[in-house]
Amino acid sequence: MDSLNTRYVEISPEDIDDKVLSEAGDILKAGGLVAFPTETVYGLGGDGLNPLSSKKIYEAKGRPSDNPLILHIASMDAVEHIAKDVTPEAYKLMEQFWPGPLTVILNKKDNVPDETTGGLKTVAIRMPSHPVAKRLIELSGLYIAAPSANTSGRPSPTKGSHVKEDLFGKIDMIIDSGAVGIGIESSIIDMTGERPMLLRPGYIKPEDVEEVLGEVDIDPVVLGKLMPEGTAPKAPGMKYRHYAPKGDMEVVKGEEIKVSEYILKNVRADADDGKRVAILTTEENKAIYQKALDGLVAGEGNADKPGNRDKVTIISLGSCAKAGQISAHLFDALRSLDNMDIEMIYSETFYEDDMGMAVMNRLLKAAAYKVIEV
Ligand code: AMP
Ligand code: MG
Repeated sequence: MDSLNTRYVEISPEDIDDKVLSEAGDILKAGGLVAFPTETVYGLGGDGLNPLSSKKIYEAKGRPSDNPLILHIASMDAVEHIAKDVTPEAYKLMEQFWPGPLTVILNKKDNVPDETTGGLKTVAIRMPSHPVAKRLIELSGLYIAAPSANTSGRPSPTKGSHVKEDLFGKIDMIIDSGAVGIGIESSIIDMTGERPMLLRPGYIKPEDVEEVLGEVDIDPVVLGKLMPEGTAPKAPGMKYRHYAPKGDMEVVKGEEIKVSEYILKNVRADADDGKRVAILTTEENKAIYQKALDGLVAGEGNADKPGNRDKVTIISLGSCAKAGQISAHLFDALRSLDNMDIEMIYSETFYEDDMGMAVMNRLLKAAAYKVIEV
């Protein structure tokens, strides 16, 4: 693909520049692509009813074309223009959580092209709450198809600079509004079956949905179970390897002391082998590793290899006592591992956080489901 002249603009969510967003809207209407912030992650937007725009999105991301896109809207009336057979329960759900980080799967109307839904007869719809996303949708007057604005397989972007890393020269415009608030993708609920089914966990938890709708089924993939050979996941995106860092990654699970012992033992051995290693931990636990590993510099047992400490990077994802910190930093941390050419990654588990299920779902995918129980 020829390199495009990508325009990079900064827009503060507190002081929205309608002129620039109208220009972004014009690009979208003309079939071009614009990356923009939402409250979950940055999205790569195109006109969702224009099959050529959807094709361009797949091309720019290097995304398999059977992995459908989410349509972003700014008002409730938009639903009936693209979806049919919408049940009262589905409306109840949307009214409760929109605008916000929830995507709803509904039966699609004929005007939504197969290119946008990956050939499915259903369509994914979300109304974001981020003021820049909301205003862009309003000014464009479109149903904006927007998957995460990353190269397929890489961690979703949570900062403008992440989008730049992956898509500069491949799309028409990038709108940078700083770090997003939530940091992992929207929860997805399928409302086309007999019972609501959670297809992807996010900030909105199954318990939150159950308060509105009663019981909710959870797709086995969400809980980290691998798909049996030959079965197709309900959200096609779930079958692809995601977020995978270049290095190998292990998630270490068990009693806290045993987890840190296992990680330290392996980190020491890897550093001795000359590997660049990283530890993913919390604000609460990082001192355990720092204290133990600073011994590498002091020479305790490693006097002959004083350089080993430089091979080890300790990354804190935040405090597990503060809701939302771990999720907000996860993708940025995974990207930084690649930028540092880390070859081996050991991660603790992060169930304590309020978004435990959503965080663990992303972490397990990043580690290609390699879990070590100690
Ligand atoms: P992304 O925008 O990159 O987070 O990807 C969109 C996600 O929504 C993918 O995992 C898709 O598989 C899922 N998705 C989009 N449309 C549908 C649909 N009609 N049915 C089920 N899942 C969908
Ligand atoms: Mg994505």
